[in-house]
Amino acid sequence: MKLQEADAKSLLVEQGLPVPGWDVAHTVDEARAAAERWFTAGADKVVIKAQVLVGGRGKAGGVKLASTPEEAAEVAGAILGMDIKGMTVRKVLVAAAAEIVKEYYLSAVLDRADRRILLMGSAEGGVEIEQVAEEHPEAIIRRHADPLLGLLDFQARDLAFEMGLGAHLKAAVAIAKGLVATMRAYDADLVEINPLAIVREIGPDGTTNEQLVCLDAKVTIDDSALGRHPGLEDLRDPDEEAPEDREAREAGLTFIKLDGTIGCMVNGAGLAMTTMDLVKRAGGEPANFLDIGGGARADKVAAAMRLILSDPKVDAILVNIFGGITRGDEVAKGLIEARGQQVRDVPMVVRVVGTNAAEAAVLLEEAHFQTAASLDDAAAKAVAASRAAQTGPAASPGTVS
Ligand code: GDP
Ligand code: MN
Repeated sequence: MKLQEADAKSLLVEQGLPVPGWDVAHTVDEARAAAERWFTAGADKVVIKAQVLVGGRGKAGGVKLASTPEEAAEVAGAILGMDIKGMTVRKVLVAAAAEIVKEYYLSAVLDRADRRILLMGSAEGGVEIEQVAEEHPEAIIRRHADPLLGLLDFQARDLAFEMGLGAHLKAAVAIAKGLVATMRAYDADLVEINPLAIVREIGPDGTTNEQLVCLDAKVTIDDSALGRHPGLEDLRDPDEEAPEDREAREAGLTFIKLDGTIGCMVNGAGLAMTTMDLVKRAGGEPANFLDIGGGARADKVAAAMRLILSDPKVDAILVNIFGGITRGDEVAKGLIEARGQQVRDVPMVVRVVGTNAAEAAVLLEEAHFQTAASLDDAAAKAVAASRAAQTGPAASPGTVS
């Protein structure tokens, strides 16, 4: 689950990290009022930032400065409702604009290959890190945190020095360790600060001082760990979830989209994995992982079918049900119902064994479904159907009938 910048920043603040204050505004009037508060508090400019779950908002025109409450309202009016990479902006962050001296990059990610938290830092902040990784990979400093001991002080100091943050060592060490603490506290798989910035502050007496602060924040939480953090689920932005992910979550289905052409509908995670392996062995590529779970009723099966068919690349479907708690006839009814609502005519191969398999067979035969006796047979038939769809004159991938 991706968090909006403002929510991500709240988590950083809870972990004691230095983040300049902000307000969230949903309307032009709220933005004007927030800007007025920042100006009254002494800001000479405010920054208005689109709250959408995509990177590169700055480049897309979603981050703007304003010098008066009126200008802030104008800018907020332009940003609210803006489309950034397919996402509509529904709220903005309003804060006193920082005077940036230099921008850095610092992130913590879950390194699955190493099974540890990986810290990545760079003096080339503000720009997209993927670009830095491609053009100057040596400009990214990496340190792994120990699973038991966390990020050790000497590692954090090393990282800070190599990033060129020697003059802000204490703050940089605290922030690096704070990112690891944030990863652990919320089961995050990414905590990214870009830019981590040295900002200049002018005190009421005219003296200036420089501070290292988190000016942007991106946090993603491991969905499977949300049960451990009841409050976090409320931060989910249903608007910005991929439609198929939302439908899957609401229907209680475990669905992961893949790159192939054969849609798979299976009950049980283990059987779903096996089915995908057999599709590959038969020469095909699965379009998804989909576990409809135990005891799925007809409506759940129909939802699963809609999900599979929402992927235009799918040109054949393999249904593999081992009826235990799940009743074969319920699945068959679901398939028949789903086909009735289906907008695309995609060949389907169905294998149902176990509970009420005989009743299922009768229903499926009456409805003229193609069935298979064994799983190997089903995989072979699905792969053949997909090939025929790709090479045959009758249909090409993505054909809508
Ligand atoms: P992103 O483009 O979605 O990553 O959004 P960011 O929050 O990182 O903002 C993009 C850029 O806007 C930053 O790299 C800064 O250069 C600039 N920016 C953001 N906040 C401020 C601010 O408070 N003051 C100034 N002067 N620039 C800012
Ligand atoms: Mn950024």
